Amino acid sequence: MPGGDMVGRSIRIGTIAGIPFGVQPAWLFIFGLVTWILAIGWFPDQVSGISPEAAWGLGLAGALLLFAGIVAHEYGHAIVARRRGIEVEEIDLWLLGGVARMRGHARKPGDELAYAAAGPAVTLVLALIFSGITLALPSGSAGRALAQYEAVTSILILAFNLLPALPLDGGRVLRAALWRIGGDPIKATMRAAALGRIFAIALMGLGIAAVALGSLGGLWIVLVGWFLLSAATSERIGAEAQARMSGIHAAELMTTPAVCLPATATAAEAARVMLREPHPAFPVLENGRVVGMLSSGAIANLAPASRNEVLIASLADRDPHLLLDGEAEVTTLLEDPAFQRVQRATVVDADGHALGVLSITDVQRRFDAQREVGELAAPPT
Ligand SMILES: [Zn+2]
Repeated sequence: MPGGDMVGRSIRIGTIAGIPFGVQPAWLFIFGLVTWILAIGWFPDQVSGISPEAAWGLGLAGALLLFAGIVAHEYGHAIVARRRGIEVEEIDLWLLGGVARMRGHARKPGDELAYAAAGPAVTLVLALIFSGITLALPSGSAGRALAQYEAVTSILILAFNLLPALPLDGGRVLRAALWRIGGDPIKATMRAAALGRIFAIALMGLGIAAVALGSLGGLWIVLVGWFLLSAATSERIGAEAQARMSGIHAAELMTTPAVCLPATATAAEAARVMLREPHPAFPVLENGRVVGMLSSGAIANLAPASRNEVLIASLADRDPHLLLDGEAEVTTLLEDPAFQRVQRATVVDADGHALGVLSITDVQRRFDAQREVGELAAPPT
């Protein structure tokens, strides 16, 4: 599935088409479990007289192919998303599958539809290829057993991902369709996320029933349902935040006046200002114009002995995204990687002079106020 945020750090495996991919440590457990199930169950059942060594070798091959299939599915999402102008940070495999981490969202429903459908399209092709190989090979052969396992898992992955419940791929396709029909991306997210929550709760109920009937495998279903519930909920909260903040411009929320540092100041001089004015980052001025932001971290990383010599001109983060027009939409800003990194940006006029500083705290304050007003206007039922 595209998007989403999982906890934990992943182990980098490699880079394909400029997009790195990795696995979370929990995935290694799944990898071992799949190899084991294939080696002691599937292959001895399907291939009569198979040696334990061959069964383990094939089990490992089966797990590797499954892994490659999930990675290919995520690259399907990632490559199409990138072609549609959405930045893809990395691909990650975690306990329950893969995720392509993207920065920003589709600007048109057609873009979302394309990248949401691209992953399942890859899996469909794999399912067809492995089904064809299965039918072509003689029954009882090791090759057929291997191809059959990959065909079955591809079909299961495809079927699950196509369920019309956000954050699953089918839910994203549904959201794109609702967006195209209704013209409102936020309402489309709310509806698709509501369906996702209903589906997740139903899945958890099913898992609990299975456990009650004595099948411990039901615990997996509960886990998947719980993950889907929290992911659909966070999609809904994100859409609510977007709805509350839409139409608000940077100039309305910025803090004035901006406390700026001249690029010719030394790191030691900047540190003294930072002690007096406790902000995590400051606009840096060259000839009166803002050229970037200096974060307190850049000074903290400097060896104390060099702080009297190093000028902050060399320490400033000069990402142009850290300079804002007063008319910039706050919802767009919140998705900007540069703003996410520094958590503040300088609002400048047409000549590049600082008008104020907009920080994540300013945005949060307005969001909290809006929520309180919203709750007063519509008390919870
Ligand atoms: Zn997917």
